[in-house]
Amino acid sequence: MALYHSPLYLDALSQLESAAAAMSADPNIVERLKYPKRAIQVSIPIRLDDGSVKTFEGYRVQHNMTLGPGKGGIRFHPHVDLSETTALAMLMTFKCALVGLPLGGAKGGVKVNPNDLSRQELQALTRRYAMEIGPFVGPDKDIPAPDIGTDRQTMAWFMDTYSQIHGYASHGVVTGKPISVGGSLGREAATGKGVAYCINFAYDKMDKQIDHKTTVAIHGFGKVGMPAAVDLAEQGAKIVAVSDYTCALYQEEGLNVLDIIEFVKERNNLDQYERAGVKKITNEELLQLEVDVLIPAAIDSVITDKNMKNVRAKMIAEGANGPLTKEAVSYLTNQGVFIIPDILCNAGGVIVSYFEWVQGLAHFFWDEDQINKTLHRILKNAFDEVVVKADHYDIDMKKAAMCAALAKLEAAMKLRGLFPG
Ligand code: GLU
Repeated sequence: MALYHSPLYLDALSQLESAAAAMSADPNIVERLKYPKRAIQVSIPIRLDDGSVKTFEGYRVQHNMTLGPGKGGIRFHPHVDLSETTALAMLMTFKCALVGLPLGGAKGGVKVNPNDLSRQELQALTRRYAMEIGPFVGPDKDIPAPDIGTDRQTMAWFMDTYSQIHGYASHGVVTGKPISVGGSLGREAATGKGVAYCINFAYDKMDKQIDHKTTVAIHGFGKVGMPAAVDLAEQGAKIVAVSDYTCALYQEEGLNVLDIIEFVKERNNLDQYERAGVKKITNEELLQLEVDVLIPAAIDSVITDKNMKNVRAKMIAEGANGPLTKEAVSYLTNQGVFIIPDILCNAGGVIVSYFEWVQGLAHFFWDEDQINKTLHRILKNAFDEVVVKADHYDIDMKKAAMCAALAKLEAAMKLRGLFPG
């Protein structure tokens, strides 16, 4: 069945099942969590700039809403399909549960390469997609956010479309909005900041400190990779390599992160970046660097059974959703690599999305210091819970994160019971 074929879905399912086995979870609860609550497929016809009409495929999958309204990003990418969106929605359920948010898990997407569309075409696509999934989303139902290929402008168009339909400015319908239309301070950097916080927690746990000898390679120098690089470089770490879809940059003494960010702002990619001492390497070579910390922050399935044996990092912080396949997780864990699991490592984004949603509903906005402190506290509690589960069941961090999330879902689902009984 179309919903259940993708490697990412099968991987998410096997993570769920192995965590359930480790903690002897109630099989009836696990049975329910294998399937999404609702999967919506829509057609999105738009008029292109040349006057012709083209139809795109869009989805919104709501995996589980026991803990609260659905929450999760909208992805614009050529590989988007129903099964992958379902897997990502499932990961959102576990991510929100793990960090203790009163939110369920959802994900949306449109099968499109956003770089192929003009600004006007992208706006039309976003508005029509928002209109088509409109009946199923809303501040109390399901709250989208940015993901790969979407940004705050996408969210502003989405919010405006929903608001036009309902006749009032709805701050609570999406997060990741620009500040001027109800966005939250700190949201843009939140995922990367969370990754940096988690790496610090892991170093603390090992009684180590990030300093000028700490080497870091970042696969995917975008919305997640950039702020993580800034924070880690500020702490003294050497960011020896960063990459995007065009190439990877490498410098043994550490790259000038701020200079690269300025360059990307102007030129959109790393391709033409030339500086003394900076070498161009491939993305694959970046993944194989002997570094203290590797941050795969681009897309899923970049470390698989094909290249896992070449990975030489001591620690891997999963900035993206599902960057390591289950074979890679188990092989690298056995090799002694410390893996900070995605549902913990990249949860900073959804945590500050939650703050944005709360601020929007209350029409009262917090300062950035309060946001970052609360983000830090929530992530630290979640990290500690995962460590406790890992010790208790004698399992790795990846499985322990799923156990911690599943325990919370299991408790809530049992209390709410099965409708109609
Ligand atoms: N797309 C992000 C994620 O995968 C953020 C989701 C959100 O903020 O709702 O976690």
